[in-house]
Amino acid sequence: MAEAAEVRGFWQRLGLPGLVDVHTHFMPERVLRKVWDYFDGLGPLTGGVEWPITYRADEDERLAVIRGFGVRAFTAMLYPHKAGMAQWLNSWAVDFARRTPDCLHTATLFPEPGVETYVREAVDSGARVFKAHVQVGAYDPGDQLLDPVWGLLAEARVPVVIHCGSGPSPGKHTGPGPIAHVLARHPRLRLVVAHMGMSEYEDFLDLAERYGEVRLDTTMAFTDFSERLAPFPREARPRLAGLGDRVLLGTDFPNIPYPYVHQLHALERLGLGDDWLRAVCHENGARLFKIAPEVAPDTGPA
Ligand SMILES: [Zn+2]
Repeated sequence: MAEAAEVRGFWQRLGLPGLVDVHTHFMPERVLRKVWDYFDGLGPLTGGVEWPITYRADEDERLAVIRGFGVRAFTAMLYPHKAGMAQWLNSWAVDFARRTPDCLHTATLFPEPGVETYVREAVDSGARVFKAHVQVGAYDPGDQLLDPVWGLLAEARVPVVIHCGSGPSPGKHTGPGPIAHVLARHPRLRLVVAHMGMSEYEDFLDLAERYGEVRLDTTMAFTDFSERLAPFPREARPRLAGLGDRVLLGTDFPNIPYPYVHQLHALERLGLGDDWLRAVCHENGARLFKIAPEVAPDTGPA
């Protein structure tokens, strides 16, 4: 595969053993198909923008593609859009992690009775990262039902990738305000703000600068696609350098309307240098998730 060679060339040039991608979507097949239908139908949360899915394939094939790219560790970002779904998704994710050793065991949550119990169960069963989707779930992250959950996750030091910015289209509880309230109560919570907080980039950079455990994932940010819709402010680039140890590669694979390698080139063209790229594309994620160089085999192109 030509693209695999290009992706591998990118990290090999940097002297890395591969990539760590904190934001990829694996979920039960029929849920993923529904997500794709949603993008195809230009559902309102896509911002009404044409969104052709590049890697529309069966799970086995998608895994072969991402392994072919040399992604040493990735996630299964799944999320409910309503109550009563999270536990079922979590049980699927346990099984997926078991049969996919290079996937970081991922879990999700929703403000609903019982959430504290099933989040604790997920942590006890080895969940290494959570996904929360404030836009699709249309909930306030400051919801009372979630307060003990954030406390529990902060104490367990389990990162939560959270879509809480207002891009590609705003939700009732998106934006920096609601999540800032959560951080004020739980300042040690390991939040990974998805999409660099698109489109409120600078507000989320403020939060990351204020709270040492807040990180940002690069998912879709800086790409041609996103720069057209929600350009990252040029004057804020130096702040990305300052947060170089807390920016993590994320891509949204497979739900992206362009080739995977474009995300890498979009990071490269920021001009922040090779050390920054090494940190973002591998070291920061490897450190956060304790991915030892010797335990992750290079699965290579199939
Ligand atoms: Zn995503």
